[in-house]
Amino acid sequence: MAKEIFGRLPPLPSISEVLRMYRVHAKKSLSQNFLLEPKLTSKFVSRAGKIRGSYVCEVGPGAGSITRSILAQRPKHIVVVEKDARFLPSLLMLQNACQGHMSVVLGDILKFDMSKLFPRETERPWEDECPPIHIIGNLPFNVSLPLIIKWLRAISKHDSAWRYGRVNMTLSVQEEVGVRITAVPAHSQRSRLSVMCQNWCEVEHLFTIPGRAFVPQPDVNVSIIKFTPRIRPLIDMDFDLFEKFVRVMFSMRQRQCKHPLQRLFPIHKREELATKLFTVADVDPNAPSFNLTFDELERLSLTYGLIVEQHPELRHYDHINPACIAEDKARISLLSSKKIPR
Ligand code: SAM
Repeated sequence: MAKEIFGRLPPLPSISEVLRMYRVHAKKSLSQNFLLEPKLTSKFVSRAGKIRGSYVCEVGPGAGSITRSILAQRPKHIVVVEKDARFLPSLLMLQNACQGHMSVVLGDILKFDMSKLFPRETERPWEDECPPIHIIGNLPFNVSLPLIIKWLRAISKHDSAWRYGRVNMTLSVQEEVGVRITAVPAHSQRSRLSVMCQNWCEVEHLFTIPGRAFVPQPDVNVSIIKFTPRIRPLIDMDFDLFEKFVRVMFSMRQRQCKHPLQRLFPIHKREELATKLFTVADVDPNAPSFNLTFDELERLSLTYGLIVEQHPELRHYDHINPACIAEDKARISLLSSKKIPR
């Protein structure tokens, strides 16, 4: 395989040999499950899109199995971001072998800023086709959800890698997470993650890799999902306000949406504002949250946005925040003390 990839360059040891050579054992704390089968790593990379002549950022390269498949497609440059320093020797070996086409960053992807990672000439206006940049990663399971939410926020603000345009991502996630990401309205797994991902990206389930293909074998299968940022989000709203709205709505996914959504409002205004929300949005309060279409969600969330404009203090109201709970309790006791005739 090494000969195919690097042409004139010296052949490299296989990834299993590399892991043996450097005595690297998988660390559970870093969700390390290695994909060593070249057919699968090539499929992963070829389904990401046109890599030849492009720029790539790979998350969590480990010993470099997917990295080798990326390099086989001859990108202009690849940056790999790895947290575990034990992989440094094998990644540096790969970097030396591919003559200036690869950089290695030792760091935490959750803190990594991609806003200066690629050359200016790769930038495309947001409405244009996607720039020649790919984010690829066999993600550590324990990082995938916070990372995807962080990147969706960056997409919404055209920040970080997305200041270059609509950069796509091809990422692995646990199969059940993949099902949630792609679940359409009325699907039993429709959730906060489905709405957040689909609002800002077109999401496509590319294929599933059985757990047994990884070393060590995880308990679950793994889905490969491609995210392509939308030119315009389905619902154009401030990310944090929309995130709160969706989080509260799906806190009781199976119940009639009036139950979770009234919790957007402090107790003393709950009835009045919840009634206003459903009346203005013209949505049936008895519909279960997971059944709502994007149209209904749009009417509800934009109406919520208008209510927040009229009552700015609601922006920071969060029914699970201890300070808000304490305030609600104080109001209840004040109201009940007023009702008691003295
Ligand atoms: N790409 C390799 C493969 O497919 O065989 C390894 C994939 S393994 C599922 C996840 C990789 O992400 C590991 O190498 C792990 O050390 C790395 N990792 C875990 N947490 C990370 C973080 N916060 N930032 C960067 N890399 C991380």
